[in-house]
Amino acid sequence: MTIFDSHTHINDPAFTTDLPDVIKRAHAWGVKKMLVLAGDGASFGRLQQLWQLDNNIYGAAGCHPEDAVRFNTTELDELAQKFKFPQMKALGEIGLDYHCSVEPKIQQEVFQQQLELARELNVPVSIHNRDAFEDTYRILKAAHVGDFGAIMHSFNGDTSWSKKFLDLGMNLSFSGVATFKNAVEVREAFLATPLDRILVETDAPYLAPVPYRGQQNEPGFTRLTVEYLADLRQLSVEKFAKQTYQNTLKILRI
Ligand SMILES: [Zn+2]
Repeated sequence: MTIFDSHTHINDPAFTTDLPDVIKRAHAWGVKKMLVLAGDGASFGRLQQLWQLDNNIYGAAGCHPEDAVRFNTTELDELAQKFKFPQMKALGEIGLDYHCSVEPKIQQEVFQQQLELARELNVPVSIHNRDAFEDTYRILKAAHVGDFGAIMHSFNGDTSWSKKFLDLGMNLSFSGVATFKNAVEVREAFLATPLDRILVETDAPYLAPVPYRGQQNEPGFTRLTVEYLADLRQLSVEKFAKQTYQNTLKILRI
C-alpha cells in the first residue's frame, strides 16, 4: 500500500511527545510519504527536525490567513529563503478564512503576495479556504494558479465549486471531512472529480475521519479516508491509494 498524506501538521505541539511512534504507525497503515505544513518559525524548526527522522517527509511553509496581520516584507523574504531546502515542495497553507477575525482586505493582500512568490519560485500552493469561496476563487483565477500548480486543501464545497476550481487546473485534496455523515455535497463533488486530480490528506491533528471523529488525528488515519473514498468510487483500496499517491508526486514534483 502506498498512501501520501498531502497535508499534515505533525510539527504541531500536539505531537511533541510521541512523534517517532506517530511516524511508525503511519508507515504501518501504508502512509509512506507526507507533506508537513509550517506556519511560523517554531513549526518550521520542528519541520526541519522531522527531516532528520525520515526522508519521506516533505515540507511546505506559508502564512496562514489567521496570521495575516503579522505578515510583512521581511516575512516574505524569510519565506522565500526557506525554499533553498530541497525538501520544500509547496507554499502553504495560504488563502482566506472569513470565519476568523482578521480583516478580509488584509488576508487578501497577504494571499496575493504569496501567490506571486509561488509564481517566482515556481512551486505549487496549498490553499486554505473557509467561508470564502467567492474571493478565494477570484484571487486564484487572477493569479493563473494552473501555471505553477495548486491544491485545494480539505475541499469542503459542492460540485459547482469543485468544477470551478478544477477548471483553474487545481487538484482537490479530500480529508476526513468526506467521511462525516453530513458531508453529502463533499462526497458528490468527490465523485464528480476526475481520478487524476484527487489527493488525500489528514490535516492532523484536526479533522480525524470516522470512526475517530473528534479525536486527535494522525497521518496513519489517511488510510481510513482512502478506504472510505475507494469504496465510494467502487475501486480497490490499492488502486485508489496508488493513483492519489502518484497525483501527489506529480503536483509536488517529487
Ligand atoms: Zn492545515
